[in-house]
Amino acid sequence: MAPLIPVADARRLIVEALTSGGVETVALSEALGRVLRADAVAAVSHPPADVSAMDGYAVRAGDLTAAGQSLTVVGESAAGHPWAGLVGQGQAVRIFTGAHMPAGADAIVIQEDTTAAPGAVTILELPVKGRHVRKAGQDFATGDAMLKTPQRLSARDIGLLAAMNLPRVSVARRPRIGVLSTGDEIVMPGESVGPGQIVSANGPGLCAFVRHYGGEDMALGVVRDDMSALRAAITAAGPLDLLVTSGGVSVGEHDLMGKLMAEAELSFHKIAMRPGKPLLFGRVGKLPVLGLPGNPVSAMICAALFLKPAMERLMGLPGDAPRTVAAVLGTDMKANDGREDYVRASLNPDPTGALVATPFPRQDSGMISALARAGGLVIRPPHAPEAKAGERCCVLLLDF
Ligand code: AMP
Ligand code: MG
Repeated sequence: MAPLIPVADARRLIVEALTSGGVETVALSEALGRVLRADAVAAVSHPPADVSAMDGYAVRAGDLTAAGQSLTVVGESAAGHPWAGLVGQGQAVRIFTGAHMPAGADAIVIQEDTTAAPGAVTILELPVKGRHVRKAGQDFATGDAMLKTPQRLSARDIGLLAAMNLPRVSVARRPRIGVLSTGDEIVMPGESVGPGQIVSANGPGLCAFVRHYGGEDMALGVVRDDMSALRAAITAAGPLDLLVTSGGVSVGEHDLMGKLMAEAELSFHKIAMRPGKPLLFGRVGKLPVLGLPGNPVSAMICAALFLKPAMERLMGLPGDAPRTVAAVLGTDMKANDGREDYVRASLNPDPTGALVATPFPRQDSGMISALARAGGLVIRPPHAPEAKAGERCCVLLLDF
């Protein structure tokens, strides 16, 4: 029997077989979660001019030598309504948050440190030059490349792009991912469930996964465990960047994906992972095919480990291993065998705020409900020794 290939090698083989696709320009309202494909360069400076960070009075710090001095108030500068004059000796301008600093002034005295009288203000607290003043361009200046390609755009990034006065951005085209469920027993949700049949969790679940990570999901339905039907379904799949199948990858007589891929172009079949051992990857003609196991838990965990990086690669990102966080174990764990184990666990903070990962007692890869409930997966490397509650562990967060 060929040795099972390690998880990291499988991911590398998938990612290296894929190349990034096209680029399109979208409105900011469509850009959330998309991968930026050209550096975003600020069209304006922020702030556009020196502005006040507080409500108060714009003054010349040098005019004031002792608390209790009064200044003549010669005007008002409000947000959107700059004051056009020049602040002279012994003068102040009433100012509000976000308003332009008037020429001549170099400090702000906050409202709380003053008493106002008609046409004048008494300064109770001596100002410090530059205090409470946001300098023009201190956040970014026109021409600054504030977001670099490639990166996935967050809601915070969308706010930044908007402030940069960029109404449109250049992003990776959404990869088109076909999702095909295989199995004589599978029906779609809402169909009548006959004897021996089960409802497809994988079809809708994987389509949602694809959408969650910025892909365009092409739901291809269910195909029977029949070689020619399977071949026909793959050939008819249409223009896709990647086809994801579920089921039919094990070694039973009715598991046809391995056979079909071996006749086409198989990159690998079977990896040192639990759940997800029968994963396969290859090509049918030009179409890359990722064959996920039928067990819904295995299918989803393999999607997190392999489909997500594959999609990232198609969008111009590196396709690295999913990010993990450190946690402490909530229970003891026994020593691991040669397969990398992804253990469904609840995640809760302890009183100090540290994350505690408590593996569920039942790890059956048929337990769809346990995966839905899990906060993360405790990663147990091959041959990891026994671990005690309270020891550190590595957790993949389930955020999809
Ligand atoms: P297979 O990989 O085809 O041997 O399937 C493994 C297990 O997953 C079997 O119990 C199947 O009935 C189940 N299964 C296969 N496809 C799906 C699906 N789309 N949704 C839910 N369960 C599935
Ligand atoms: Mg099957």
